[in-house]
Amino acid sequence: MVRPVGILALQGNFSQHAAMLLHLGYAPIMVRYPKDLEACRALIIPGGESTTMSKQIDRNGLRAPIKDFGKKNPIMGTCAGMILLSNSKNGKNMDPLNIMDFTVDRNAWGRQVYSFTDTLKLHFDKRKQFKGTFIRAPKINQIGKQIKVLAEYNGEPVMLKNSKHLVCSFHPEIGKDTRIHQFFLKNLHD
Ligand code: GLN
Repeated sequence: MVRPVGILALQGNFSQHAAMLLHLGYAPIMVRYPKDLEACRALIIPGGESTTMSKQIDRNGLRAPIKDFGKKNPIMGTCAGMILLSNSKNGKNMDPLNIMDFTVDRNAWGRQVYSFTDTLKLHFDKRKQFKGTFIRAPKINQIGKQIKVLAEYNGEPVMLKNSKHLVCSFHPEIGKDTRIHQFFLKNLHD
């Protein structure tokens, strides 16, 4: 059975997540309105611009539906998606969804021109390092008790999970390594 996985497709790098899902045999569903969530078994919130996405989430009436969805289903947030899943303080134009218990500093890995790709260790798969691409990435600061660190870069946490949800400050949809998507999706049952 093909398992439908939603990708929030309001702004940002949703198409590369879709390509990766197709490659892994999942059916990507572009989520733009609450009804799009109905068929989804999981949701990915991509990287992009968290201020823009936060506004569009409200404009399209998605805030409460995504929060409800996350009570039963897994959500993965990458970069801006990670910021949105956090419970960082509201910014001027950015209102996080408060779905996971951690906070971030936005853009703390440097500006766009200082984007970089480097190897990092995944705690759940030590066989091979992962090439993480960081683009104006957030730095994680406070982490709640239920949160587990799944990857570190230069001694700093860059990937977290709780019982259901997963976030990373880099872009796992860039490149050919599918391990992070596979790890996120492995608990979806038919
Ligand atoms: N700096 C962006 C933000 O604050 C995130 C960048 C990204 O998703 N690559 O929303």
